[in-house]
Amino acid sequence: MGGGSLVVGSFTPVPRRQDFEHIFPAAANYPELLSVYYPRAKKALGVSPLPADILRHPNYVGPRSWLNVIARYGASPHFFDFAIDWDIVRAEIAGRKRPSVIVGELSYGVNSGAKKSTDRTYLAAAERSGNVTIKPMHEVFDIRPRARRAGFVVTARVRDEQGRTIRTVTAEADHLFLAAGSFHTTRMLVEARAKGTLPQLSPHIGNGFGTNGDFLTIRTNPSDDFGLVQGGPGYARIYEDRLSETPMSMVYQATPLPAPLGKAGTTHLVQTHTDERGTVDFDHASRTAKLNYPYPEGSNDVDRQAAAFVGKFHQRTEARYGRPANGVPIYTRAVGFGSAGTYHGLGWRRDGTGGVDGRCGPRLRQPLRRRRLVRAGCRRTGESRPDDHRARRTDDGSVPRRPLSAVLRQPRPRVMPAARARVL
Ligand SMILES: Cc1cc2nc3c(=O)[nH]c(=O)nc-3n(C[C@H](O)[C@H](O)[C@H](O)COP(=O)(O)OP(=O)(O)OC[C@H]3O[C@@H](n4cnc5c(N)ncnc54)[C@H](O)[C@@H]3O)c2cc1C
Repeated sequence: MGGGSLVVGSFTPVPRRQDFEHIFPAAANYPELLSVYYPRAKKALGVSPLPADILRHPNYVGPRSWLNVIARYGASPHFFDFAIDWDIVRAEIAGRKRPSVIVGELSYGVNSGAKKSTDRTYLAAAERSGNVTIKPMHEVFDIRPRARRAGFVVTARVRDEQGRTIRTVTAEADHLFLAAGSFHTTRMLVEARAKGTLPQLSPHIGNGFGTNGDFLTIRTNPSDDFGLVQGGPGYARIYEDRLSETPMSMVYQATPLPAPLGKAGTTHLVQTHTDERGTVDFDHASRTAKLNYPYPEGSNDVDRQAAAFVGKFHQRTEARYGRPANGVPIYTRAVGFGSAGTYHGLGWRRDGTGGVDGRCGPRLRQPLRRRRLVRAGCRRTGESRPDDHRARRTDDGSVPRRPLSAVLRQPRPRVMPAARARVL
C-alpha cells in the first residue's frame, strides 16, 4: 500500500513558473496552482523544511557541506519542504526509533514511520471517510465493459506476500478511474485495446512516454565531508540557466551507504527539459505491453545535456582547485544511473490536457454513450469528447489558458453503495 510514495525521497519542491509553463503550456494557471493547489497538497501531506536542530546533528554534515559545494559552483540554494515527521526523526536520533531517515534509507522505505507516505496520508484519509474500501494485494489484469448495462467489470488476482495467486475476484463499477502509475495505467489500456476487451480506446494511448528529464549521478570521493553515514532525505536544489541548450537543476539526496562508506560518494538528481518520448506498445509474442524508449545511452538529449552540466560542476567545484580526482561524476545506465534513473515516468502526450491527442481524451466512457461521442467528432474510436478549451484556439494558434479550478473541478460525486465504491 502506498505505491511509489513508499520509496520516494519525500522531497516536495514546487516547480518554477518558467519550467512548469514550458512543459504544460495550456494545462493550468500557475498562480492558482501556487496559491491554492500546492498549499492544499502540502497541508494534506504535512510537509515542512529540514529543522535547524536536526541539521546540526553529525549525521547531517552532508547537507551542510552541500551548501559549501553550491557556493563554490557559484549558484544559490533553493530550499523546499519534505513529507517527513521530524519528531520521529528526533526519536531516531535519541535511539527510541529504528534509524532510517538519519541513515539515508529513504529509497528502501522508512521503517521508523517518519515518512509521510500516501498510506499514512491520502489513503488513510480516504478510508476514514467511510466511502472507500482499500483492497491491498489485488492486481487487476482484465477490464471490459459490463454486458447488461453501462459500466465495467474488473478482474484481479489476489496475491500472497510471496507473489502467488490465491484466487481471482471480479468487481463491477459504474465509473472506473485507473491510477496504477503512469506506466502500468498505460500498459493496461494498451493491452485492453490490443486484446479487444476495450476496443474503443484511442489509437494514441501509449504515445508520449517521457522520463521527466531525470538524470541520476553520483559524485565519487568528494573533497567535502558528507559524513560516515548521510542523514536524509537530502537538501537544497540549484538551477543552472546559463548553459546553452536548456535549463538544468540539481539536488543533493542522501546516499544510503553504511558507515564509513558515506564519505565515498554523494547522489544527485539532475533534471532537464527534453522532447524525447518513448511509446508503450503491445508485444504480440508475450501478449503484454512494453516500453520502447529508442534513445541510446550517451547520445540522447538528457545524457548529453546533463553530462555537460555535471562535468562543468566537477570542473568548478573540484578540478579548478587542483582536485580532479575528487567529486568525479559517474552516470552509467549499467547501474541504473544517468538517463536510466527515471524517478518520474510520465505517460500520455505532452498536450497539456491530460488527453491523449488533444482531441479525444482517454477517459473510459460507457458503451451506451458511444452514439453521442461519435456525433462529437470522435468517430473512428468512439473516444470521449475533447476538452472545450482545446478546441478554442486564439488567432495565433495558441491555446487559451483555462483556470485551474475548471481543470480540476469534478462533477458532483454520486454517492454509490459501498459495495460498488471499492478501490482495488
Ligand atoms: C526512488 C524514487 C524516488 C522518488 N522521490 C520523489 C520525491 O522525493 N518527491 C516526489 O514528488 N516524487 C518522487 N518520486 C516520484 C513519485 O514516486 C511518483 O511520481 C509517484 O509515486 C506517482 O504516483 P502514482 O500514484 O501516479 O503512481 P504510483 O505511486 O506508482 O502508484 C501506482 C500504484 O498502482 C499499483 N498498481 C500497478 N499496477 C496495478 C494493477 N495491475 N492492479 C492493481 N494495482 C496496480 C502499484 O502497485 C502502485 O501501488 C520518486 C520516485 C522514485 C522511484
